[in-house]
Amino acid sequence: MFQSLSRKLISKRRTLIFKAVLFIVLVSNSLIVLVAWDSWQARKNKLREFEISTMNMARALAQHASATIGSTDNILAGLVERIEEKGINNFVPSSLHEFLVSRVADQPIVGGLFVIDQNGHPLVTSYIDAARGISYEDRQYFLHHKTNNHRSLYIGPAVKSKSTNHWVLTVSRRLDHPDGKFAGLVLATIPLDYFKNFYDSFDISTSGAIFLASSDGIMLTRRPFVEDVIGTSVVKGPVFTEYRNKGPVGTAMLVAAVDKTERLYSYRLLDDYPLLVSVAIAKNDILSGWRTQTIRHVTLCIVLIFLITLFGIYLVVQINQKENTELKLREAKQELEALASEDSLTKLANRRKFDATLKTEFDRALRSKSELSLVMIDVDRFKQYNDIYGHPAGDECLRKIAEAIRNIPGRPADLCARYGGEEIAVLLPDSDLAGAIAIAHRIRAAVEEFKIPHSSNVAPYATISLGVASIRPTMSQADIKFLVKLADQALYKAKAEGRNRVCIA
Ligand code: GH3
Ligand code: MG
Ligand code: MG
Repeated sequence: MFQSLSRKLISKRRTLIFKAVLFIVLVSNSLIVLVAWDSWQARKNKLREFEISTMNMARALAQHASATIGSTDNILAGLVERIEEKGINNFVPSSLHEFLVSRVADQPIVGGLFVIDQNGHPLVTSYIDAARGISYEDRQYFLHHKTNNHRSLYIGPAVKSKSTNHWVLTVSRRLDHPDGKFAGLVLATIPLDYFKNFYDSFDISTSGAIFLASSDGIMLTRRPFVEDVIGTSVVKGPVFTEYRNKGPVGTAMLVAAVDKTERLYSYRLLDDYPLLVSVAIAKNDILSGWRTQTIRHVTLCIVLIFLITLFGIYLVVQINQKENTELKLREAKQELEALASEDSLTKLANRRKFDATLKTEFDRALRSKSELSLVMIDVDRFKQYNDIYGHPAGDECLRKIAEAIRNIPGRPADLCARYGGEEIAVLLPDSDLAGAIAIAHRIRAAVEEFKIPHSSNVAPYATISLGVASIRPTMSQADIKFLVKLADQALYKAKAEGRNRVCIA
């Protein structure tokens, strides 16, 4: 019974600890999920926000490029009309120079204006001293117009100006003789500094990048400005790959081939000119604020989980301590109860226990109308045993006799008790007289078998006398005393008839 109680307590404690651990795990997990979800959403929002702002920047860059080229083209178109009307060979260069200077003054975007003849020599320019010796024969725009009779605007590569030695973007139109033959070209240069100043006004941090390229992938200018890259092909780069696959306007997270940096790119092909602009912001820059915030949230989350766990451990320790105290108290109580109902010498039940059990079993027999039997046992000539062998040996003898008796009655309800002195009572509930006699005989034989030497007994060893009584209880409680009295009488009879025997009442 005691073991099952402590087992119950232990399992109750386990359930409590399990619940505490489950609570901690659930709260911690919820916190982690909440922080992770919140952080993921914040990251998504940040990227979306920058997607929109880079798209807007790309639109602004495209409009700027369009307006720049457009206003330059207006000048060129007017110039072509003016020159072709009179014929290129009929112009007084000085009057044309004045005109070019006034046009440049009107349009600060334009760095210089050039009229170049069919041999690649400058006929007249907006500069004061047009270097007569210079040839533009090798320039790509010259070759283009010479070999193509297209009349449309040509946006050539960026070049280092032969007049000013500054990087410029070249925009040109072909001049024809009245017969349609190549007569030269008009050229406007736009300093790349003009783009640089505009591109520098965007807040894209140091890792950000902006470029303007021809639609066939030749780099015209970029921020940051790297001289070596101007004029090279970026057609194999990530932006042009994206442009080929996805169309004229797009936004994507791409890795630059040059520095292996992941950036959010927005690019746009101009509606009216074969140019493509692109703006990019490094992913690291976009997410730096988000990262700081996430680190703060995760730290807070870890601290909270730590505190909850600490609280949980404290709780579990408290539960353990409380349960341990309870268990010890129960153990002590059980021990006390056992001590209170046990005889210390024989380890049989004591008289108190016998009296209580007799009453309980009597009532039970009364209810179930069953028989209740009692065997009263007394050691024969025990006074002499003490006298001969001494009191401690008498105690040892009693202990051995109790040991012999203890295991004979086999039912759980049977009770062997030290009735007093060297008298032992065996209560046999639900047993009739015949059954009780049989048990009594087995007890007697078992004690005899121990052969405890006793020189002054009816036999040369210790023996017992047994009186057996059996009743079927009626209403009267006085029957309890009657049963004991009957068994006593039977025992007396056994003594009188010569001891070491079983008698019935
Ligand atoms: P019989 O019962 O055969 O008539 O003879 P007896 O000598 O046993 O007589 P009685 O029952 O009158 O004597 C009981 C003796 O048992 C008296 C007492 O000294 C002894 N005795 C009782 N309790 C104990 C005990 O706990 N230890 C020891 N050593 N002796 C005990
Ligand atoms: Mg006696
Ligand atoms: Mg005796």
